[in-house]
Amino acid sequence: MRVLIPHEKIQARIAEMGNEIAADYGDAPIYLVGILKGACIFLSDLARAIPKPVRIDFMGISSYGKGTTSSGEVRLTKDLDVSLEGMDILLVEDIVDTGVTLTYLTHVLDQRKPRSIQIASLLDKPSRRLRPIEARYVGFTIPDEFVVGFGLDYAEDYRNLKDICVLET
Ligand code: 5GP
Repeated sequence: MRVLIPHEKIQARIAEMGNEIAADYGDAPIYLVGILKGACIFLSDLARAIPKPVRIDFMGISSYGKGTTSSGEVRLTKDLDVSLEGMDILLVEDIVDTGVTLTYLTHVLDQRKPRSIQIASLLDKPSRRLRPIEARYVGFTIPDEFVVGFGLDYAEDYRNLKDICVLET
């Protein structure tokens, strides 16, 4: 295990992202939609870094399972609690990897007629992209390495690490 991004650097970047997001939106509440489970730690810090009214909801999708490679399959396991028609949705994700998950979710949410949909991702691994999707707000762009910590897991472990670490298998 090797530290890739230390906790202090993550916090500083989230503070910047919060201000950036606040500057881009008007006074209507921003609906933060966290993707379970990986985004929950990032979402809780990002929500407090946005000096504007925000609301919070979550969606659940099938995840990587127990390995470090994707099954390529996306399945909704938890839907939103309320309709977000006419709302400004900010999808909050831990990492954009192949882009399959966010392509699927933006398609699902688009059909519900929100006013806008944008993506905020703590991490981005652009070298692995299979779908042409980009997050509007990105914390850090990282190389093609499997990372854990700050919400990200390996077989459900390591989500509570304060730093983002590379898991050397
Ligand atoms: P995508 O659909 O973009 O390929 O996958 C996104 C999801 O894959 C993320 O939400 C995350 O759960 C998982 N994932 C992708 N890369 C990593 C990684 O380096 N570490 C961990 N722990 N999960 C990853």
